[in-house]
Amino acid sequence: MLETLTAEIIAIGSELLASDRTDTNSLWLTEKLNSIGIEVKLKTIVGDDDARLEEAIKDAARRSKIVITTGGLGPTEDDVTRKVAARALGRRLSLNETILEELRQKFLSFGQPMPERNSRQAMVIEDAEVLPNPNGSAPGMFIEHEGAAIVLLPGPPREMRPMFENHVQPRLVSRAGSVKVLRRMLRVAGLGESAVDEKIAPIYTKYENPQTTILFNQSEIEIHLTARGRSETEANTLLDHLSEQLEERLGNAVFSFAGETMEQVVGLKLSVGGYTLAVAESCTGGLIAQRLTDVAGSSKYFIEGVVAYSNEAKTRTLDVKRKLLLAHGAVSAEVAEAMAVGIRKRSGADFGLSVTGIAGPGGGSEEKPVGLVFIALADEVQTKSRKLQIPGDRQLVRWRASQAALDLLRRRLI
Ligand code: AMP
Ligand code: MG
Repeated sequence: MLETLTAEIIAIGSELLASDRTDTNSLWLTEKLNSIGIEVKLKTIVGDDDARLEEAIKDAARRSKIVITTGGLGPTEDDVTRKVAARALGRRLSLNETILEELRQKFLSFGQPMPERNSRQAMVIEDAEVLPNPNGSAPGMFIEHEGAAIVLLPGPPREMRPMFENHVQPRLVSRAGSVKVLRRMLRVAGLGESAVDEKIAPIYTKYENPQTTILFNQSEIEIHLTARGRSETEANTLLDHLSEQLEERLGNAVFSFAGETMEQVVGLKLSVGGYTLAVAESCTGGLIAQRLTDVAGSSKYFIEGVVAYSNEAKTRTLDVKRKLLLAHGAVSAEVAEAMAVGIRKRSGADFGLSVTGIAGPGGGSEEKPVGLVFIALADEVQTKSRKLQIPGDRQLVRWRASQAALDLLRRRLI
């Protein structure tokens, strides 16, 4: 069994516990640590609170081989990381004259004397290696403590990131040895979370490596695989082996193997086949056209999109017959098909794709409830439609309708 070095991250700062600031440092650090084979087991956010921070650092140092803190190294009264970390690790804190002089010089180079309170940024924990900070005033620290590495980094990302890359990463790489961690994501359309799990759990539960996580994300299921290996090749082989089995089990429902979006996948298929597309949208209000044109190079295959919201617009722009609208209503298979045929004819595209439905929250009836959506696809030889009953609020109904429509085309292009 391959041993993985594990780490934990402590993000320090009361602002991170308020509702308007996000701890992005941990996300960035996690990505970096994973890339060198180190797994993050725990993340903590602590306010600028002496007692809680001391506890957090003590606990972390006891259980993890690598502890990285960010924040709280500023010059102000509320920045307590240096002082508290020293106390938690039972080490002295003392003024480092060299750093103090460097700080003075740094301020002078900006044409101002160093404010006295900045001198606390020259306080160094006993036996810590000082990590230089060319982008700010607070130096970081690297402390070897009872077999663990305790790393203190500044909070501002533009200071923290280069400090980690230049001074921390090389030290951790030599500790981590050669374990490589690789990830892969499969995206699934047209199946729910439980249905996906029911199909693939018998396969992935047999493996501890790769690890499998299933996530629901708006209108699709994401299957995340994480593999550890002695080399990238070994990790990749493990990923290939498991993902092939999952793909075989899920079939065409898997639409993405390397993080591509549905619109990218559809775009690529249209592009490769040399096909063109036009869309006619009602309840999605242009969402499908927007998604398609988010992809660079879409002008190669995307001809036009029409948002035909009212009945009158459906008749005028798409030639949907008034009689048809009266007989079946705007939300019907017949109208969806007529819209797809209409946009195809009008644009001269190879494919006409359409959506009509009731996004809610109002406008539903017993016969046609909120979430009822019809999608249709017309090509040279035939026109096909599908009826969907989509749960969720207006936002979600629109998003899932757009996804289902794109998926209908994707399956046609396979
Ligand atoms: P500090 O080192 O505590 O003085 O942090 C100063 C600034 O860095 C904060 O005001 C934030 O803008 C930023 N910052 C601190 N911690 C984080 C974090 N975990 N993620 C993103 N930004 C942070
Ligand atoms: Mg702070």
